[in-house]
Amino acid sequence: MNQILLYCPYTQICYTGIRCTAETKNTPERTRNENNRFAMLNIQMFQGWNLTLKNFLLPMYCRECGERLLTEENCFFCPDCWESSPRIERPFCTGCGKPHQRMVGLGALSNYPCADCREAPNRFIRRTFGAAYYDGTISAAIRIFKFQKKRSLKNPLAALMLDFAFQEMNEEHYDFLVPVPLYRTRLRERGFNQSLELTELLLEAFPEAILDESLVRIRPTPAQSSLVSSERARNVRGAFAVKGDLCKGKRILLIDDVITTGETTTECARALKRAGALSVDAFAAALACPVPRFDL
Ligand SMILES: [Zn+2]
Ligand SMILES: [Zn+2]
Repeated sequence: MNQILLYCPYTQICYTGIRCTAETKNTPERTRNENNRFAMLNIQMFQGWNLTLKNFLLPMYCRECGERLLTEENCFFCPDCWESSPRIERPFCTGCGKPHQRMVGLGALSNYPCADCREAPNRFIRRTFGAAYYDGTISAAIRIFKFQKKRSLKNPLAALMLDFAFQEMNEEHYDFLVPVPLYRTRLRERGFNQSLELTELLLEAFPEAILDESLVRIRPTPAQSSLVSSERARNVRGAFAVKGDLCKGKRILLIDDVITTGETTTECARALKRAGALSVDAFAAALACPVPRFDL
């Protein structure tokens, strides 16, 4: 009997709405492999033509320099603008994750705590990591991602974070990756939680960890970017809570798109620690901090 499948176990390709017949089920292994290759070739050809057609009908231009974009990897910025935005590199602080403004000794590549973190370490967050500076193209990308609701920008931003994680976070072990949550009205208005979108893609770098959404925002708060720094801590105080007791004894990596003053992540970490989390680290695509200038 004919059956409509979304995912065909024989060709191993999603054929939404295409019928898999009894004959297909009896196809010998060799023919099935040939079918697979043929189907893949067709899909690649279709994607190639589709891209060419889209570029012709709806040309895309870099939001920074206006250059025509010829690939779909990043539909908003050309590779030159994307690569020119500064990434965070060693040496950076083992507390707040901010790069050191002065290198201690020529070629110093070890990370160490900054003076602020030595004097007053964050009580709730063990370490903070950021992949890039909240500057240039990356800051533009984050604003477009969130405020213009361009969901596809999660891919280049997550790729940026994955590069950093593979390079700098190999030694870290986490049980849960937890996105910074949005309040339900903000989620409804935006249509997606940018931190959750990034978290789903970051699981690739942390194979031991699972995504956990126990952390919730229990009251609406004005956007932190609309407030001066002295008001930000008060704005998010008591805004988060943890559902259930899954976080108890867990090593948690909190994920956000950008960390500016760190008040939001600190408040999230406070709620997670109160719920029994063993440790909380934070990881963002970008950190708001000055780009260091080394005079050698
Ligand atoms: Zn450009
Ligand atoms: Zn620091």
